[in-house]
Amino acid sequence: MSDKTGVRGLADDYDVVIAGGGIAALTGGLFSARLGHSTLVLTGAAPGGLLLSIEQIEGVPAFPDGVPGYELCPIAQEQAEAAGAELLPDELESLEASDGGWRVNGHISARAVILATGGRLRELGVPGEERLRGSGVSHCASCDAPLLREKVAGVIGGGDSACQEALTLAGPLSQVLILSRDDELRAQETYRARVAEHPKIEVRHGVVVEEIFGDSKVTGVRMADGEEIALDAVFVYVGLAPNSEPVAELLSLDADGHVPTDPSLQTELPGLFAAGIVRSGAAHQAAGSAGDGAGAAKAASRHLANGGAPDA
Ligand code: NDP
Repeated sequence: MSDKTGVRGLADDYDVVIAGGGIAALTGGLFSARLGHSTLVLTGAAPGGLLLSIEQIEGVPAFPDGVPGYELCPIAQEQAEAAGAELLPDELESLEASDGGWRVNGHISARAVILATGGRLRELGVPGEERLRGSGVSHCASCDAPLLREKVAGVIGGGDSACQEALTLAGPLSQVLILSRDDELRAQETYRARVAEHPKIEVRHGVVVEEIFGDSKVTGVRMADGEEIALDAVFVYVGLAPNSEPVAELLSLDADGHVPTDPSLQTELPGLFAAGIVRSGAAHQAAGSAGDGAGAAKAASRHLANGGAPDA
């Protein structure tokens, strides 16, 4: 071990450094440590990632009734730490090839790196969205639902997130309108069926929101055809953008900015792996991200066992 990172008890040299704090990163940390590798997970400020703010994550094996993100993520964090992974609340800022391995953030060396930096909710990009953020425009239904008791909210989008969050909002609110630009929802059948049956949720199809308005707080949205709908809040769930910026200069990204990998989850650069939402073609489900983290940790371990040679 060489110099200290400045954080008491943490070293500067690791077999595996994992960038990210979501379920892919934490599961990668768990498996990498279980495989016997010194492992550092750079979690960012709040381990848990996108799942942390989800009121009820569904489709996670062994949780038939779903599980709140704020319960699942701390368990995954504790499990990774108990296995021996070290967690540091730093972001990935820089990554350079160095001596057959990697130099992370200028001062940490790693023989293999797993990118599991996840994604962020996309913006809609219409007037009023930025100005009224925090004043009725939100990306967090579970945070704001209790403040909107008996109010009316719009949810923009049509995928799993829009439906899942509309269902979260519908409990305390008096009405939730899903505003979808398509003729049908893209979400899983289970969500579509529950949305269709919910007495407080209405879906408006084929509508394009062009403006969110209100003086000091949201009072409504304006559609492309000029129609205005009065709303107390607007939740934007129009997909995810990958957090691939830290490696944008290092790797070729796909058209949407995701990191391509081979079937073993290795990127075009030996010893650099990707897992979870940031990876091209990943299943954007909690279970899929956990599987990616485990798979990338095993691939990184094989890479180390091969002395850094490409996977056979
Ligand atoms: P998705 O990319 O799956 O869906 C985005 C939705 O927003 C689509 O209906 C899309 O319409 C619409 N949209 C995109 N851009 C705009 C725009 N500019 N204006 C209006 N509508 C727009 O994103 P989600 O956030 O729903 O989900 C992200 C990922 O997380 C998915 O893979 C999803 O499966 C997963 N997820 C899984 C859950 C679970 O398994 N329990 C729960 C929640 C999310 P169009 O199709 O026309 O582009």
